[in-house]
Amino acid sequence: SYVLGIETSCDDTGIAIVDTAGRVRANVLESQQEFHTRYGGIIPPRAQDLHRARIESAFERCLAEAQLEPEELTAIAVTTRPGLPLSLLVGLRFARHLARRLQKPLLPVHHMEAHALQVRMEHPEQIPFPFLCLLASGGHCQLVMVHGPGRLTLLGQTLDDAPGEAFDKIGRRLRLHILPEYRLWNGGRAIEHAAQLASDPQAYDFPLPLAQQRNCSFSFAGIKNNSFRAIRTRERLERTPPDGVISNYGDFCAGLLRAVSRHLMHRTQRAIEYCLLPQVQELFCDSPPTLVMSGGVANNDAIYANIAHLAAQYGWRSFRPSKRYCSDNGVMIAWHGVEQLLQDKEGSLRFDYDQIEIQGSAGFAESQEEA
Ligand code: ATP
Ligand code: FE
Repeated sequence: SYVLGIETSCDDTGIAIVDTAGRVRANVLESQQEFHTRYGGIIPPRAQDLHRARIESAFERCLAEAQLEPEELTAIAVTTRPGLPLSLLVGLRFARHLARRLQKPLLPVHHMEAHALQVRMEHPEQIPFPFLCLLASGGHCQLVMVHGPGRLTLLGQTLDDAPGEAFDKIGRRLRLHILPEYRLWNGGRAIEHAAQLASDPQAYDFPLPLAQQRNCSFSFAGIKNNSFRAIRTRERLERTPPDGVISNYGDFCAGLLRAVSRHLMHRTQRAIEYCLLPQVQELFCDSPPTLVMSGGVANNDAIYANIAHLAAQYGWRSFRPSKRYCSDNGVMIAWHGVEQLLQDKEGSLRFDYDQIEIQGSAGFAESQEEA
């Protein structure tokens, strides 16, 4: 059977069809990056208009790509939280209308859970529950224990900015988007590429955030503010024109990536140590301890290599989704729907369409223990 997944939580319109064996039958993704780049960020009503204008045709293309009739869909999964309310509404209204017309169940999906579960689609046998997951994206930074769909426990999260958001803002401040090669890239991707051009990667160094705290909290505001300050200092020194980029931006990006990597590793190490406590370790039963990294920042090869290296030091296995599924997409929403179907059999199939509502923000249950 086939699950349709609809993702409109932010600025990508994603619609996909996945079967219960995890085969992707169609994957349509429409980015709004080009529009938002012009304004330097996402304007929610504008994002909503673009979703509205595109969702119908994205759905049609998805069906055509899968060579399926709408009646052949088993269920419709849609992101209902967290995200921009105006954007979420477009997806939910479309999904409701479709589900009602076809008389199919509607499966509400938590966007961050979908990021976390996506790897299981690509490695079905290898990633049993529970596993530890580092979610690093444009709006979140969280360490969670994943027991199943709807069953995630939060070990810690960012106290301020998310790492992807920091990359985007710093990239913008650096004005990387005026370089033609980075014009349509998000900040994280541009910074990753620019860091490879560094001639003196040690030129910039940033202090480790929350170095003294023994928990799984994150903070990226300090790195962001230090970055802004370092860029301004350099601009003054070089007399960079207001539409120019500092000459050693590669060195800067290398230092920034190193700081973010170190912070993510430091906190992930605490989460691993927490999992090694005897009472927590019992949860893993016989399955090999596993660390998953997901969310847009998991696209970053240097950061992921560091995280994987850390896991290996503890004898843990590590996984991330393939790059096309790290950032927002409809496939992960459809797959979460499949996981719901597989877990609950018929149990949670919902036909009470109007009772399903969006929630702008929605956290996971917090762990009682301090990690
Ligand atoms: P959330 O999932 O928290 O709601 P989101 O859906 O907007 O936020 P994602 O699509 O998961 O976020 O990820 C987008 C973020 O990933 C952007 O902030 C971007 O800077 C970051 N990102 C993308 N590619 C890379 C990369 N190669 N290196 C670092 N960061 C990256
Ligand atoms: Fe996301």
